[in-house]
Amino acid sequence: MRISLDTDVCIGAGQCALLSPDVFTQDDDGFGTVVPGHPDEPEGPLVREAARACPVGAITLAEP
Ligand code: SF4
Repeated sequence: MRISLDTDVCIGAGQCALLSPDVFTQDDDGFGTVVPGHPDEPEGPLVREAARACPVGAITLAEP
């Protein structure tokens, strides 16, 4: 699964990092970012939940 996070859209709500901390984290300014070297097989349901929970739709998931 390809995971992208549009940092231009992110408002730093932090939902993604709360829901799926293996894949998402927050930078020093509180904005979401994808954890470098996140698991190749991230836990699908949680990643999907994080994408759904993002209030601004900054997270995009694409199946390979
Ligand atoms: S949930 Fe969305 S707005 Fe909040 S930190 Fe994650 S990507 Fe940014």
